Amino acid sequence: MAQKIFGAVELGGTKITAIVAKDLKTVLDKKVFPTLSPKETLNDIIEFFKSALNREIYEYQAIGVGSFGPLDLNPESRTYGYITSTPKQGWQFFNIKQEIESALQTRVYLETDVNASALGEFFLYPENRIQNLVYITIGTGIGAGIIINGKIVHGLVHPELGHIRIPHDYRQDPFPGICPFHRDCFEGLASGPAMEERWHQPPEKIPTDHIAWELEAEYIAYAIANLICTISPEIIVLGGGVMQRHQLLKMVQSKTRCVLSGYIKSKSLEDNISEYIVPPRLKEDSGILGALSMAIHESKSKS
Ligand code: ZN
Repeated sequence: MAQKIFGAVELGGTKITAIVAKDLKTVLDKKVFPTLSPKETLNDIIEFFKSALNREIYEYQAIGVGSFGPLDLNPESRTYGYITSTPKQGWQFFNIKQEIESALQTRVYLETDVNASALGEFFLYPENRIQNLVYITIGTGIGAGIIINGKIVHGLVHPELGHIRIPHDYRQDPFPGICPFHRDCFEGLASGPAMEERWHQPPEKIPTDHIAWELEAEYIAYAIANLICTISPEIIVLGGGVMQRHQLLKMVQSKTRCVLSGYIKSKSLEDNISEYIVPPRLKEDSGILGALSMAIHESKSKS
């Protein structure tokens, strides 16, 4: 009898990562290739997954896909499983879920890239240890995957944490913001491109002792304080390119406590903030391992 295995794909704007695995700890094969046209990319993905089947007597139980968006994740919708109105050339209204399902004759579970990362970090915790986790990515854009009661929040559309409004003191920061919809929303003030435009240099070039980092930490802390006051997450994970700057995490931890001003009484905030607002434990593999976790957990819950 064929042994069941799982596949996972992280579909990014410039590169694709694909893995084949027996379980979360046993990855059998991994490949990274460039994102080309949908047809070429799909061929690369299918070829990779089929090559694993040739070697042994395996069959796919399920494949998890974490993809750039926007995606239609409403099962009632006519375009369910599609990448929809993306600016990425050629990828508009591409039915990624069904294309992989029909080529490999297996079930495909699709999520946004940031939701896949949130799931990857969530499943690291022992079952029932936590139920509510937020993964925030701060890079070219700002987005969040929100898990409440062990489930990713989809809701009306999906959360748009990057576009919440946060206090903006024009005397301290006269920069108007870069969001084409709101100007000085969270993403308009604190994304990598906003930092670059305000300080005339990309974040990775801004010196460690520059005032830019104080301001950045303050904006992130406001957003986190809002999240704590609304959904009370048990863990907050901060990923993305801007967070690569080493000292920023500590600054965010301390400013979050300042913004909350002692109002929220919790050991996590008062004594253990370095274990409460944390970097991704899976580092750059949160997305791909999240997609794998999704395939494993979803197919278990359906069987
Ligand atoms: Zn905005």
